Amino acid sequence: MAESKITKRSEDYSRWYTDVIAAAELADYAPVKGCMIIRPNGYAIWEKMQQALDAMFKETGHQNAYFPLFIPESFLQKEAEHVEGFAPEVAVVTHAGGSKLEEALVIRPTSETIIWNSYRNWIQSYRDLPLLINQWCNIVRWEMRTRLFLRTAEFLWQEGHTAHATPEDAEEETVRMLGVYRRFAEEYMALPVIEGRKTEKEKFAGAQHTYSIEAMMGDGKALQAGTSHNLGQNFSKAFDVMFQTEKGTREYVYATSWGLSTRMIGALIMAHGDDNGIMIPPKLAAIQVVVVPIFRKPEERERVLKAVDNFAGQFKAAGIGFKIDDREQHSPGWKFNEWEKRGVPLRIEVGPKDLEKNQVMLARRDNREKTAASQDSLGQTVRQMLDTIQTSMFERAREFREKHSYRIDDYSKFNEILDGDGGFLWCHWCGSGECEEKVKEETKATIRNIPRDSPAEEGKCIKCGARSERRVIFARAY
Ligand SMILES: [Zn+2]
Repeated sequence: MAESKITKRSEDYSRWYTDVIAAAELADYAPVKGCMIIRPNGYAIWEKMQQALDAMFKETGHQNAYFPLFIPESFLQKEAEHVEGFAPEVAVVTHAGGSKLEEALVIRPTSETIIWNSYRNWIQSYRDLPLLINQWCNIVRWEMRTRLFLRTAEFLWQEGHTAHATPEDAEEETVRMLGVYRRFAEEYMALPVIEGRKTEKEKFAGAQHTYSIEAMMGDGKALQAGTSHNLGQNFSKAFDVMFQTEKGTREYVYATSWGLSTRMIGALIMAHGDDNGIMIPPKLAAIQVVVVPIFRKPEERERVLKAVDNFAGQFKAAGIGFKIDDREQHSPGWKFNEWEKRGVPLRIEVGPKDLEKNQVMLARRDNREKTAASQDSLGQTVRQMLDTIQTSMFERAREFREKHSYRIDDYSKFNEILDGDGGFLWCHWCGSGECEEKVKEETKATIRNIPRDSPAEEGKCIKCGARSERRVIFARAY
């Protein structure tokens, strides 16, 4: 295992991010520019994310399916906004099997078109609705600037595609799935997020409107952590998907789509990581606790490992993910450092002196506190400690966000804050795309979303001074 040093976060945030990924062996660059290799430690986080989300999708009535990677190019042309939005980043296959294809194939940048082409055959009557389908897959959106997990040409995600009989049902679904994403971010990732609606300029290409959850990263920038789109009848009209209503009339179907990707691993690193490496919230950690036995003499070794064996039984019974690091070629200190870099939430140290006192030492990854605990009912103690760590990671992230959130009514303060510690700027906005664009040009900040629970409040647009009824969030973003 190669030693890797992590640049201090305060020194160079971007290098720190790359170093953390290398130190924890989460991902590598690929031979093809823009692509990434997800290593086992990184993939283990994704698997945990998948399990949690998949269970929530099924609880809300969705089923998984799989649609092809290749989409006939003509499909993308059918929805005007959609093709315009995706054309610049689409990869196209023109040759296969040694000859030129009759029709070029697009590698899916998202699957609305190919899925709605099937829905035409699957939906005839109101009895076929709602149709609630999700797919786990990879996506290609051509990208030359690689930022592992955050910006890559190929990434993994899930995309939900649902069909409904009424606009109300579609809207309800769009909001429901935004809520699922929020719950996932907050309960599993320990990441507080703000639910809101995207502006016209920032919405998904082909959507009627888009909602997002937005999170604050450790450098004060925003990250869009998940999106849910109300597609209205745009795709059913493009693919001619009609159904017979209860009254016997024929109508176009209403659609939604929603997605969350491996970008969330980048979010996890940036929201919780520190100078010692990544910090994985217990609920997403495959290894939740690592046990480091400490011994010098052979008779100590035997006694300590016997005790550790007993712990292993308790952890199994309590459903705790654990690892016993009894490698003899490395010192305990080396191992402590190693597991910190890998973000394991809790470490247990146990040596001959601890055995005499019937205790172990617990070392938390999040605040690096060490406490002694009894060996009796250790499984239960560890379970409680993991819950505490999960909660305090969320609380810390929330406090950080609050500390870096500002209500700003003076545009001259904008760049001062953004060039400093950064953060979320809650400002009045008149609703015009022109003001939004000008602010972006002058400050590189975009409107992250129009928060769903932002209270009505009279004010003046931060840019033009026109009347505004509520505040929106401006921030620089990943
Ligand atoms: Zn304005």
